[in-house]
Amino acid sequence: MYIDCHAHVFFTPIPTERIDDDIIGGIPTPTIGFINEMISNARKKGVNHIVGVISNPKDFPRYQEQMELENIIHVIGISRNNAPQDQSQLISLLQKEIEGKIPHGIGEIGLDYLYGFDNLNENEKTTLKKQQQELFRKQIEIAKEIDKPIVVHAGYGVDKDIVDIIKQEQAQDVGGQIHGYMSKKELVSELLHMGFYFSFGYLHTREEKLKKIIELTPLERILTETDSPYHLMESPKKFILPEDVVSISKEIAGLKEVNLEVLTNQVMRNARELFRF
Ligand SMILES: [Zn+2]
Repeated sequence: MYIDCHAHVFFTPIPTERIDDDIIGGIPTPTIGFINEMISNARKKGVNHIVGVISNPKDFPRYQEQMELENIIHVIGISRNNAPQDQSQLISLLQKEIEGKIPHGIGEIGLDYLYGFDNLNENEKTTLKKQQQELFRKQIEIAKEIDKPIVVHAGYGVDKDIVDIIKQEQAQDVGGQIHGYMSKKELVSELLHMGFYFSFGYLHTREEKLKKIIELTPLERILTETDSPYHLMESPKKFILPEDVVSISKEIAGLKEVNLEVLTNQVMRNARELFRF
């Protein structure tokens, strides 16, 4: 039995510039029909649980809809992409949403110093980093208030900032999942030491630098994920969906040199322990 520990089940539409004629299986569309089919295709392949992440405030109205689906573990938060907006307004939106509908975790929150930084001057870059950090801190606070783990996007170039903020805000009290880790391998041990889990997807099983991170992470701290539907598989060229956690799990088992069942059983235990379901 497999688990996709990070998927955007209810998602904002894929930007049209990513549409390519060669893609097999079509472009994901966030209709309820597509979503139900995506979940049922995954289930047929043994993916019985999916951690559904709603991290764009535009998608908050669909949180209730997600809660009505079976075997979905609910995570909600405000992505760093929204950091330049009116943060106090976004935070109160989030608070209102989780009132009486407590999620299993707060996320994805965190930092990424690559996307959206291209055309900025140094001052603007500093401002954007500060805005992201501020939003990250505020949401750690919310997770602590409701005593739920955080789901952290640790993107490109964030290096020590993630670790520093986690320490300063004592986020280790609630723990969490480090998702999409793209930073230095030197910081992995610090995050492991604070009790965090690392969640690995398609890219981690392909890039040499990221494979090292999988090797460094003990089985007891590994989670498997797809981050659906935002990544493209190279061959066959298609959008990665929750069902693809099967092939991702096989790759990870290979890298860890363990039997697939040993890996998937351990991943399920890890996920249950973290998200308490
Ligand atoms: Zn994500």
